Amino acid sequence: MMFKSPDLHTHSTASDGTLSPTALIERAGGAGIEVMALTDHDSVAGIAEAARAAESIGLTLIPGVEVSVTWGGRTVHVLGLDLDPSCSVLLQGLCRLQTYRDWRATEIARKLAIAGFDGALDGARAYAEGGLIGRTHFARFLVERGAAQDVRGVFKRFLVNGKPGHVRGEWASLEEAVGWIRAAGGHAVIAHPARYGLTRRKMLRLIGEFRECGGRALEVVSGSHSRDEYFVFARHAAEHRLLASAGSDYHGPDNPWIELGRLPPLPEGCTPIWALSGFGRSAAKAA
Ligand code: AMP
Ligand code: MN
Ligand code: MN
Ligand code: MN
Repeated sequence: MMFKSPDLHTHSTASDGTLSPTALIERAGGAGIEVMALTDHDSVAGIAEAARAAESIGLTLIPGVEVSVTWGGRTVHVLGLDLDPSCSVLLQGLCRLQTYRDWRATEIARKLAIAGFDGALDGARAYAEGGLIGRTHFARFLVERGAAQDVRGVFKRFLVNGKPGHVRGEWASLEEAVGWIRAAGGHAVIAHPARYGLTRRKMLRLIGEFRECGGRALEVVSGSHSRDEYFVFARHAAEHRLLASAGSDYHGPDNPWIELGRLPPLPEGCTPIWALSGFGRSAAKAA
């Protein structure tokens, strides 16, 4: 199926977005988006609500997920697109990541208490509104406490490697993540590949291993990529016979530098993942 300007990477309150699945879909509809994927971190809990909202306004909602992966000692994100959110293999895998995430939250809170911030677990939980707890929720709480001016500042000072509230990731392996996504009938995509600070050599190794596991695409156009980076990853995709994806990585209106429905087209020479025959087939089933 060929779609007009899809946005294949967004977050809701089921993970660290600030809009509910319904509010997110309504905003996407208002921005003229016809096809959108909901890709919450390690969770498909928002998809049923999003699919209902999408159906009522005639938007095609691609069921998705953004799986946290530990690869070569760092965290890498792998998107699963057009998958069956009720697949038990996928759900069991995500359940394990959520268990780790809950443990990590207690550990982050313990470390932040040592750094002088009490009550961080309850504080983060309040921002998580019943969804899973991520570092973004801790960051919002720490902004409220005056630890830094904004979420980015909190990450820089407290939540990244080497800082007082950092806890080393123990997520899925690359093979597991791609395996869960494929078991659910989805396509695996390396999310925002420019954000991992990999040397060219390591990037080639990641791409090679990803292909061996059955990965299909690179997110070439991303809200967190620069224009130059679009072209770098368009070339990687072409050279390694991977498809290209595009997504804003929208987290809500309080990050005004990333908006829904404003993605530039893929660079020339890319084969878009949405040109795959049958792409979008999980959309109707999820509603
Ligand atoms: P987690 O999966 O809980 O470790 O959180 C990862 C999320 O934190 C990402 O998806 C972003 O939403 C957010 N994040 C990561 N690094 C930064 C940063 N430097 N500034 C702002 N947000 C960040
Ligand atoms: Mn996030
Ligand atoms: Mn990500
Ligand atoms: Mn994301």
